[in-house]
Amino acid sequence: MRLARRAWQLLHVDSVQAAELAERALVRAQAQQDIAAQGRAHLVRGYHLLHFATPAEAIAELERAVRCCDAVADRAGHVLARAGMARSAWRDGRFEDSLQIVLPLRDEGLGLLRNEQRSVLLNTIAGCYSAQGRSEQAFAYMYQALRGTGPARSHGFDVVLHCNLAHELLQIGDYHEALRHVDEGLARCASLNNARLHCVLLINRIICLIELDRTVEALPDIDRVCALPPDATGRGALAAHFETLAIAALHGGDVALGADLVAQAQAQHQVRPLLPEGQLELALATALLAGRHARWREADDHLAQALPLAASDDIDGLSLRVRCLFFLTRAEIQQQCGDVAAALESMRHWKRLHVERARLASQARYQAAALQTELLRLQHKLAENDAQRRTVERARSELQASNEQLSRTVQEVQALQSALREQASRDALTGLFNRRHLNDTLPAMWALAQRDRQPLAVAIIDLDHFKLVNDQHGHDAGDAVLAAFGRLLDGSSRRSDVACRWGGEEFCLLMPRTGAAAAQRKIAALLRRWRAEVFTLGHVRLQGLSFSAGVCDSGAVGESAAALLKAADEALLAAKREGRNRVLLGPVASAAPLGQLTGSGR
Ligand code: GH3
Ligand code: MG
Ligand code: MG
Repeated sequence: MRLARRAWQLLHVDSVQAAELAERALVRAQAQQDIAAQGRAHLVRGYHLLHFATPAEAIAELERAVRCCDAVADRAGHVLARAGMARSAWRDGRFEDSLQIVLPLRDEGLGLLRNEQRSVLLNTIAGCYSAQGRSEQAFAYMYQALRGTGPARSHGFDVVLHCNLAHELLQIGDYHEALRHVDEGLARCASLNNARLHCVLLINRIICLIELDRTVEALPDIDRVCALPPDATGRGALAAHFETLAIAALHGGDVALGADLVAQAQAQHQVRPLLPEGQLELALATALLAGRHARWREADDHLAQALPLAASDDIDGLSLRVRCLFFLTRAEIQQQCGDVAAALESMRHWKRLHVERARLASQARYQAAALQTELLRLQHKLAENDAQRRTVERARSELQASNEQLSRTVQEVQALQSALREQASRDALTGLFNRRHLNDTLPAMWALAQRDRQPLAVAIIDLDHFKLVNDQHGHDAGDAVLAAFGRLLDGSSRRSDVACRWGGEEFCLLMPRTGAAAAQRKIAALLRRWRAEVFTLGHVRLQGLSFSAGVCDSGAVGESAAALLKAADEALLAAKREGRNRVLLGPVASAAPLGQLTGSGR
């Protein structure tokens, strides 16, 4: 079924491939006994044969399609197949029959079919009316067909509509407009692989050029049509229109080509009689050929034989255009024969037909205008959709670019923020945390210690006689010593400890899960290492610097973090008082004697 659908879509886009695909679809559907798919495959083949085989062959295939579609209640397939049969009937010259076949299906079809399939049905009805010379109805149906066929989803069917529209405009004598549609169709045809459609467009172009008296321009088009092979890869075996081409060639002055084409048309007529319009054109071409050799009497005889056909007002499929051409040509030939009265009579006949044609044209022109408006609307819509799509694409890529830019900015801001946070909690000189960070962290550490029933120890350290370092070696030397102490403190604390610069030359170390005694031992060890540090400041060596420290733990104070800090600070002051270079345990106010540890371990 998938293959059959694809084949249908290719019918106008690539007629050869469509036929191959339909064949494969049919073989596969038969192997799988898939009747629905068989119906659709027969349908595509039937439509293909409409253009490339005799009407009888197309009808036989479409009848198979109808049988399969009916077996699986595929009404849409049924309607399309019957529309194809209507088209075949009309190809066969049974114009009234064709309308009888297709009209009863109209309402059901319009309800069932969508998009271009709907247009196929409408276009068939239009074709039936056109063949009967009822241009007004033909235009009305083409107008509807076009509504259902946006160029984007038409699978090339819009080219068929351009072609038919041009044909109808030709019939009412609007050659300029017809030529415009033909040229548009030819331009679109370049992207299709459909020689037959190309051929029909070229023939319409040739007719336009004959009527516009620009027949010389039509000569290359005649060559193009003749170059197309008369089989399924080319223009198809049917409706070669050699007679139309012959008229163009003879008007264009190429007598040899004209003679050749007349012979081909006659040969074809022997095999399969031409439709009335073709017969009249063949008579015209034969007369013109005789006229080219100045055999005017013979020319007049040819036309006289065709007169009953040309004069009859009720032969379907015979256009006013060709009948007008007939009487005009006849008047010219009669004049050449010196038969002025007969020529005048022919001119009168021509005028009557011409007036009738003008009447039909004015009726149809309103439809043509509406159609034109609709076409423009569709083209605008297409252009608008296209512009909208481009705008959306542009907006999407702009959005993506701005998203990328935004996410880069967010990353940048996040990096800056974390740097700022780091800066805000760090002391620039030593790299240790600052007092603010300690104030932020301490309450949480205190609470955690209380909950875990674990001691939290704190040490406050103040470098001894630090002012002397500044005074004797300069402020920069003082900074270097402070930074060195920062590194030492940081290097000797655990990851869970919080080491910070308390201010100036004072430092504070928070030690979770550590009791006062252990903390005191740790700070005493730190004091030993500090005293062992040697500084070379310029050419001066500095050694044996000391500090004083007060240490306390949460178990000893109990009430609050502030009390803990206060107790450690008081122990520090006591250490200073007692001569510096030592680590004292707090709280000092207690009755217990001060525990003292110095760097020497005394
Ligand atoms: P003590 O043993 O009593 O603590 O004596 P000290 O000299 O260390 O104490 P004092 O409070 O008298 O002096 C502290 C000095 O520390 C004074 C100040 O200039 C210096 N100081 C504080 N902050 C910095 C700093 O960031 N860089 C430098 N180079 N010196 C600083
Ligand atoms: Mg101090
Ligand atoms: Mg000091």
